[in-house]
Amino acid sequence: MARIGFIGLGNMGSGMAANLAGKGHDVRAFDLSGEALARAADAGCLAAGDVAEAIEGAEAIVTMLPAGTHVESVYADGVFGRAAPGTLLIDSSTIDVATARRVAEQAQAAGLLAIDAPVSGGIGAANAGTLTFMVGGSGQAFDRAQPILADMGKAVFHVGANGAGQAVKMCNNLVLASTMIATCEAFALAGKLGIDPQAFFDVASVSTAQSWSMNTYTPVPGVGPDSPADHDYQGGFAAALMLKDLRLAAAAATDAGARTPMGDRARELYDAFVEQGQGGSDFSGIIRMFGADHAG
Ligand code: NAD
Repeated sequence: MARIGFIGLGNMGSGMAANLAGKGHDVRAFDLSGEALARAADAGCLAAGDVAEAIEGAEAIVTMLPAGTHVESVYADGVFGRAAPGTLLIDSSTIDVATARRVAEQAQAAGLLAIDAPVSGGIGAANAGTLTFMVGGSGQAFDRAQPILADMGKAVFHVGANGAGQAVKMCNNLVLASTMIATCEAFALAGKLGIDPQAFFDVASVSTAQSWSMNTYTPVPGVGPDSPADHDYQGGFAAALMLKDLRLAAAAATDAGARTPMGDRARELYDAFVEQGQGGSDFSGIIRMFGADHAG
């Protein structure tokens, strides 16, 4: 078992840190939020007073932060110059490829190993320890990270060099945003055509409309498995974070000369949703923009 510093105990990080502690790792956790720290302590982590305390003596440091700027500042202010040589940095946040590559180079210059290891699966999978990890980094860093990631997930893929994990994650979320919007507009249309949402779900979830958005994260309260829709679209994956990912994908597509018309439309719609003051709502709450009667 390893001593692990864990920074960022929000919707995703809280369950991930709890799973590491539950598997017997010595987890020293830090978040700016006192409430998040108290939750981590209840789950068997040691609540640290700052990043420096969390990473003291750690063999590995996991970060689960909102965006690239947070990762860069936590590394620059709290990790580089403090972490012992050979420490493994695992960043599971979803951030841009350029920042992922830059921090990996800085880590290497500081005698540390770094991987980008973003996740798919949402809070349900974070809590259950069934996330999917997509890892960018050297073979040596991947081999060291693999057992730690396996304690938080059901699948761990090595997809290439530093930054490759973020590239795969960005493409994954391009699909996710599109299927969520399509699922929401279909529920809204079915409702306006007089179809009961449960009846539509019963058919669509076993037909060609099935997807994670339809089957697992159903955006209608009381229909499908428990999801943020059943909790007034609170918790889960904030719409502002989905918008961030779609902006990352748009920038990457421009750089690479790729055409992403569905992703572009999804970004416009999430932009409008966030503009309405809904950035903190779960991303499935976008169903409210389509006038669905059953979305509250
Ligand atoms: P969140 O906003 O719930 O959690 C982020 C946490 O980081 C917060 O608790 C915040 O207090 C903390 N934080 C911010 N700056 C900090 C600092 N300097 N030091 C210590 N703590 C700091 O976000 P989340 O939903 O847990 O998502 C985290 C990352 O995972 C994001 O990059 C997101 O895109 C990605 N992601 C989220 C989901 C999801 O379903 N929520 C799924 C896959 C990937």
